[in-house]
Amino acid sequence: MRALLLEQQDDQTLARVKDINSDQLPDGDVTVDVNWSSINYKDALAITGKGKIVRNFPMVPGIDFAGTVRQSRDDRFKEGQSVVLTGWGVGENHWGGLAEQARVSGEWLVPLPNGLDERKAMILGTAGFTAMLCVMALEEGGVHPDDGDILVTGASGGVGSTAVAILAALGYHVTAISGRESNTDYLKALGAKEVLSRDGYLEAPRPLEKQLWAGAVDTVGDTMLARVLAQMNYNGTVAACGLAGGYHLPTTVMPFILRNVRLQGVDSVHTPLHRRQTAWERLAGILPDSFYQQATQEITLEQAPATAAALLDNKVTGRTLVKIR
Ligand code: NDP
Repeated sequence: MRALLLEQQDDQTLARVKDINSDQLPDGDVTVDVNWSSINYKDALAITGKGKIVRNFPMVPGIDFAGTVRQSRDDRFKEGQSVVLTGWGVGENHWGGLAEQARVSGEWLVPLPNGLDERKAMILGTAGFTAMLCVMALEEGGVHPDDGDILVTGASGGVGSTAVAILAALGYHVTAISGRESNTDYLKALGAKEVLSRDGYLEAPRPLEKQLWAGAVDTVGDTMLARVLAQMNYNGTVAACGLAGGYHLPTTVMPFILRNVRLQGVDSVHTPLHRRQTAWERLAGILPDSFYQQATQEITLEQAPATAAALLDNKVTGRTLVKIR
């Protein structure tokens, strides 16, 4: 079987496509023929070695995949069934999806819901799943479409693009923030009503600013998130899932204690099974077919290392789908 293998040499991470024996796959009760994987921000950090994502080498990266069950010792999964996997440390400390086969615990797999095929599931991937969790966090915070505008930061990225599309499809008025003016038309086609420049959000905010947003999905962190918090409407909710701009949060308590603002963290790696299924079922029904054409580029396994580097250089828009077979 072919796999993208990460190895370490002189403290450098080397990423090469190699032929490996499937006997080398890690323990697990379900073996999956992987048909599609994708390149997420975390994959890019792992493949380039620019983030301390992988600690044990050799490692097959790929934090998500969709494929067909090849063998199963778990009663819930039958040979030939389509499944999707995101998170659980797969592609970080357990061999992942950038390979023709993966062997994993049945606990980590979600059967594909009606309305999604394997390719669509990986156009969504971890990014789309996380975007859905963020939208669910806004809903649980009580944010309704008629409450006001919703802001999405890092909007051209995988999570951001999908969040824009989901929110627009649900009837929210979406404003996107992007560092790339060239992506304005793309973001409007996905459903953003306005696109703001990132520049205005990189300076430290005052503790409270003019109230602009009923809800926000933040994929960037740091000063951007601090500024978003300072601009939230009374009773607004921010779903924070990312650190594309940094992991600090230079804010004050003012938005929380004077405007009743809620900051909800979102983790996709250890989301419990029931919530995972809910998120995938909702994803299957919300997005128009046009989303799957607009928001993706398709690459081969061999192209994954170059795409990972480009993603960290902020040169990739939307989602990158990896065709494994
Ligand atoms: P992408 O690289 O696809 O998107 C990130 C986007 O953020 C870019 O496209 C860019 O959008 C913007 N951006 C990049 N660098 C900066 C910067 N220095 N300052 C401000 N904005 C910047 O990544 P993903 O969409 O895959 O992931 C986004 C974030 O969410 C990552 O930090 C990732 O680790 C995190 N994440 C977290 C998950 C969780 O479970 N909590 C799951 C999945 C992702 P633009 O050019 O439009 O400004």
